[in-house]
Amino acid sequence: MFISHYNFKEEIKEKFPNNDININDTTLRDGEQTPGVVFSNEEKLHIAKYLDEIGVQQIEAGTPAMSPGEALAVKDIAKESLDSSIMGWSRPVKNDVDAVIKTGCDAIAISIATSELHLKYKLKMSKEEVIEKAVTMVEYAKDHGLYVSLNSEDASRTEYEFLEEFASNGKEVGADRLRICDTLGVLIPRSSNYITKKIIHDIGIDVEIHTHNDYGLAIANALAAFEGGARWASTTINGLGERAGNSSLEGVIMSLTKLYNIKLPFKINSLSEVSGYVEKASGIPVPFNQSIVGQNMFTHESGIHVDGVLKNPYTYESFMPDEIGASRNIVIGKHSGKHAVWDKLKKLGIETEKEDLLKIVELVKNQSANRKSAINNKELVKIAKSVIRE
Ligand code: MN
Repeated sequence: MFISHYNFKEEIKEKFPNNDININDTTLRDGEQTPGVVFSNEEKLHIAKYLDEIGVQQIEAGTPAMSPGEALAVKDIAKESLDSSIMGWSRPVKNDVDAVIKTGCDAIAISIATSELHLKYKLKMSKEEVIEKAVTMVEYAKDHGLYVSLNSEDASRTEYEFLEEFASNGKEVGADRLRICDTLGVLIPRSSNYITKKIIHDIGIDVEIHTHNDYGLAIANALAAFEGGARWASTTINGLGERAGNSSLEGVIMSLTKLYNIKLPFKINSLSEVSGYVEKASGIPVPFNQSIVGQNMFTHESGIHVDGVLKNPYTYESFMPDEIGASRNIVIGKHSGKHAVWDKLKKLGIETEKEDLLKIVELVKNQSANRKSAINNKELVKIAKSVIRE
């Protein structure tokens, strides 16, 4: 066991979700709503195939009513007959729903805001109107054989009584699940757990949690909702999405698999590659310190850490880089110790005696400190050769 044993204390474990976990990945919808991100239709198809390979149960492919190009992208993905269900996003407006139907999606997200703030200032609608629109369009979509996720936008800032009314009205006309959207990322894990549990208890509807990362809690809130009985969570690759983004696909899957030790059917060995592809296609760089897929997850420099990792990687890594298709990187610089430098030089074909090694380490530290950056392989070899020649 290479993660915390405290996770598996009886009183902790009893609150764990079972393995009925489903992912709705919305990289192609909410992810593309990241300011400045536009995927080409080819890239969208490529990403959809990646998601299908990973084993994501449902792909939110886009908003067909937005433009003919977007509709075509969604249609192309639906045509692929992937194992994943393909969902189109829409407002509760006939034109939007028709656009989804035309693409050949098997599922639809029908989304409307439910918080007082949004009703009053954005929609300028009464609660009755909101329910009426939602109910009418859920019925219409069900008549066309679609699986329906009824989305409560800004659910986390919606008074509970109205959320319940909205959900139960939707359920009555056949909505297959309720998407609880924490649109502003303002839940905490306990309230995410609470709201999920309560709505399932009161209405008996399937719940999907859709979380945002404004306070860095998107993954934690998704996990807490799973603990509360949610069967679905929305995710995006690299955590793309509006503002601070959504809960990341890789974060949610790896947390459930590793930290909870739940056996899930997802294939994780391409996560690093998929992250890299989406980084390029989106033009949004993955920060070095991003969880799971950030470059520094398996990069070590400090002497103590490198020494540990070279002796047994689990000393400073809770899972191995090759599990997600990544690789380990030992950086040589100011914080390096002699083990790291010796090991790196050996890999570069240079065997060193102890005395030379100490001198090389000293030079490496000085050079790195002076210019405030790491020493690359070429520079390291140059330093080593200068010492050995002496
Ligand atoms: Mn969102």
